[in-house]
Amino acid sequence: MVEGRCMKCKKQVEMKDPKETATSRGVKMFKGKCPECGTTVCRIGGK
Ligand SMILES: [Zn+2]
Repeated sequence: MVEGRCMKCKKQVEMKDPKETATSRGVKMFKGKCPECGTTVCRIGGK
């Protein structure tokens, strides 16, 4: 499970369909969708 902060809901949400990707600087990040509002949720860095 991957959590990210939804800008719309303004809280931590569990990403729907998270995908690992990287920024242009090579920083790992996850992109997924908020299960509540469908907005794209990002999380930079991973543990
Ligand atoms: Zn949301």
